[in-house]
Amino acid sequence: MLKGKTAIVTGSTSGIGLGIAKALAAQGANIVLNGFGDYESPKGAITALGARVSYHPADMSKPDDIAALVAHAQEAFGTVDILVNNAGIQHVSRIENFPTERWDSILAINLTSAFHTTRLVLPGMLQRNWGRIINIASVHGLVASAEKSAYVAAKHGLVGLTKVTALENATSGVTCNAICPGWVLTPLVQKQVDAKAQQMGLTNTEATKLLLGEKEPSQQFTTPEELGALAVFLCSSAADNVRGVAWNMDGGWTAQ
Ligand code: NAD
Repeated sequence: MLKGKTAIVTGSTSGIGLGIAKALAAQGANIVLNGFGDYESPKGAITALGARVSYHPADMSKPDDIAALVAHAQEAFGTVDILVNNAGIQHVSRIENFPTERWDSILAINLTSAFHTTRLVLPGMLQRNWGRIINIASVHGLVASAEKSAYVAAKHGLVGLTKVTALENATSGVTCNAICPGWVLTPLVQKQVDAKAQQMGLTNTEATKLLLGEKEPSQQFTTPEELGALAVFLCSSAADNVRGVAWNMDGGWTAQ
């Protein structure tokens, strides 16, 4: 379905980004991976799916790096047709104790990076009259939790940016939508499980059960594979008129 299209997936060396990159690759898209840590095994996983793949190490908190990532994708594959703004970090702390540099990093990586990637890929998408921009927000783009001020502010902002991007391009073939996952068991969430286990003297299993029980009625994690399938749908022609949506996949979290 996506043969000949090129997708940039930011923060795709791990977790949800890697799941989405694999799902797009399985549909034939060329993939530009990005993120920190080991990138050889994610590259190998994409190649094994028969897709072309390239990696760029841009730090998504740095506008110059972001411009280099987009230029790299254009040089490697000619166009950028799909943009998945996924890179993100978390920090959990009350506002009065929240380290100001963590606030700045979370806003830069989880929100401002999507403004930069979007403004850089839009002209090419509009010229070809086809494009898909998918912003990985969160249930925290729709509702709040205590001790996540920067994350909740950034994700609400990302949902807002999604709507504006969708509206500004509503008469074109370029769509923009957000995906809002509940809990997904990735390194980002494992750190929160570990912190809970340590603070409360619980085992990993007990802490996981407590984490799910607090917020997610299904008591189940959403998986990167399920989120990948939703991203593939949003890239399909069936989703041509899905615009400006913030689509939760959250086990009922925001239905409460
Ligand atoms: P993860 O920690 O597994 O992956 C994050 C990715 O972002 C990694 O590839 C990492 O290297 C990359 N990254 C971090 N800082 C970066 C930077 N400065 N520049 C470039 N890449 C950077 O986390 P995840 O859970 O897969 O999260 C992916 C996205 O999904 C995030 O935006 C997160 O907020 C969102 N999300 C996660 C959950 C969850 O429960 N895990 C729920 C809702 C939303």
